[in-house]
Amino acid sequence: MTDALLDVNDLQVYFPVNNGLFKKSSTFVKAVDNISFSVQKGETLGIVGESGCGKSTMGRSILRLIEPTAGSIRFKGREVTNLSRQELRKLRSDMQIVFQDPYASLNPQLTVESILAEALSTHHIGKSAKERKELVAELLVNVGLSPKHAGRYPHEFSGGQRQRIGIARAIAVNPALIIADEPVSALDVSVQAQILNVFQQLKKTLGLTYIFIAHDLSVVKYVSDRIGVMYLGKMVELTDKRQLFENPLHPYTQALISAIPSLDPDVKKERIILQGDVPNPISPPKGCAFHPRCPMRMSVCEQEKPRQIEVEKGHFVSCHLYEQSSQI
Ligand code: SF4
Repeated sequence: MTDALLDVNDLQVYFPVNNGLFKKSSTFVKAVDNISFSVQKGETLGIVGESGCGKSTMGRSILRLIEPTAGSIRFKGREVTNLSRQELRKLRSDMQIVFQDPYASLNPQLTVESILAEALSTHHIGKSAKERKELVAELLVNVGLSPKHAGRYPHEFSGGQRQRIGIARAIAVNPALIIADEPVSALDVSVQAQILNVFQQLKKTLGLTYIFIAHDLSVVKYVSDRIGVMYLGKMVELTDKRQLFENPLHPYTQALISAIPSLDPDVKKERIILQGDVPNPISPPKGCAFHPRCPMRMSVCEQEKPRQIEVEKGHFVSCHLYEQSSQI
């Protein structure tokens, strides 16, 4: 037991593969395959990996927007996986999500004021319409918009402004944890930095905790305290940000870091080019799922799945290269 805000243990999300109209599925896509981690109050855990690695599925399963297949999710010491629908509704004010595409998640027929007031009244925040109106104005200011924007509709805003509205809706209900699922990947690079700064500012002023999911390691680096790297449904490395960048252990992490351009023209970085594509998750490779692309693979990698090892305090990696050294 830890005093973490969130404790995830052996989380699995498996999807049956359709075998035809009348056949029962015997094949599963292991979108999230035995993942464990915790998140301390006030920290940002970044989750990075290529598209299709299971990071968004994992984020949504924590909120039970997708039902987990197995495993435990403890939030504030309470098991989430067996909550009733009513209990889950209450929990959702404490755990919120910000989506990649704010436009798709905002009702186009409602003004911003109605969208935010609806979130407030659903969770019984604000005693009267007048009080909710004041709270809406405060929320807009908190995310860098003007209270004058309250009467406008979602289509009247730019992509960055819409994401600010998405964030305002998430913080409206005073959550302890926000899961940000690729919240800047649909935005121009110049706007991305502004939205990342909104997240950082709110973390300070409201004492928020984040799980920040992105495919771009430089985005995750900017906002995170610790970072988990996912590949084909597995968390292959997890450690604090400094350690990940100074001493990446997993060959996949090393390749991701080598792909970030250096800001210093005098520093020449050798880029590790991975061969091939991410394998089909319906039939992942035997042994270590990364082995067909791994420049360091050994014969054992083709047969046996690596265990997760804590190489040093708080630095976890799943790779055969470190299994022997951990047994010495
Ligand atoms: Fe590469 Fe083997 Fe480590 Fe997998 S277990 S990352 S194939 S060295």
